[in-house]
Amino acid sequence: MGIHPDANRSVLVNIILLPGFNPGPYTGAGNNTYLIHAKTGSGVVLIDAGTGDQRHIRAVRRSLSQKTIDRVLITHGHSDHIAGVSALLSEWPGIEFLKMPWPVSDERYPVAWKSLADGDEIEVGTEVLKVLHTPGHSPDHLSFYCEKDGVLFCGDLLVKGSTVVIPANHEGNLVQYLSSLARIRDLNPRRVLPAHGEEIGDVVGLIDHYLEHRRQRDADILDALRGAGGSGTASHIVGIVYKGLSNDLTQAASETVLAHLYKLKTEGRVCERSDQNGAVWECK
Ligand SMILES: [Zn+2]
Repeated sequence: MGIHPDANRSVLVNIILLPGFNPGPYTGAGNNTYLIHAKTGSGVVLIDAGTGDQRHIRAVRRSLSQKTIDRVLITHGHSDHIAGVSALLSEWPGIEFLKMPWPVSDERYPVAWKSLADGDEIEVGTEVLKVLHTPGHSPDHLSFYCEKDGVLFCGDLLVKGSTVVIPANHEGNLVQYLSSLARIRDLNPRRVLPAHGEEIGDVVGLIDHYLEHRRQRDADILDALRGAGGSGTASHIVGIVYKGLSNDLTQAASETVLAHLYKLKTEGRVCERSDQNGAVWECK
């Protein structure tokens, strides 16, 4: 827990970074949640709920001092961002929980969700957070932008020093993800605070790196198919492109390869057919 090292660079809102205490192979050091309130006016917002770890709840309580949380904004329905809603609700029964609907996720949690959509504005004291729909990592993925301060809370859209998994078997979509990246590149926020890892200093540089990485991945996958005589299964491609990857990350690699294959199919560069091994992908 602590004040974000760069918190004083925000002019209009105070931002307190509260870690979720859930490190792991898919969460890195664990999730970041952000408690924010405007420097003028009342109202406290928490961005992302953590997982309900009592150390997180205690840290939130300490940071609030005598205040309460008015709203919890969820960037998206993956469990490391949302599973803490029940623990937060039992601690602060008046909280409103807001997110973009994604029934397969939302129905798992016993809270009365309020819907958010692209372009909505959320008041935080005298300031406003603008809701940006940035799908691709998940269909319901939102980013929150404090326009006057130039601060973007980007959820899992960007992670410094890493790329983002596109879970194609769970409604991840690489075409949408690339278009979300382009939108944030155009926005060019002054500060970007992610749900995992450190603050992102050079957002345009990171996005350009991501775009190049995805182009290279497309090329690697097409090369793997050509090297296999023009066709192969997704798991065959994973074995070539991610040679030597540890077992606990293979699932994520499979999802990502599939996300690229669906994108390449949309672009007419590969086609998919079924045989006794399941889906087989072919170069065009
Ligand atoms: Zn996620």
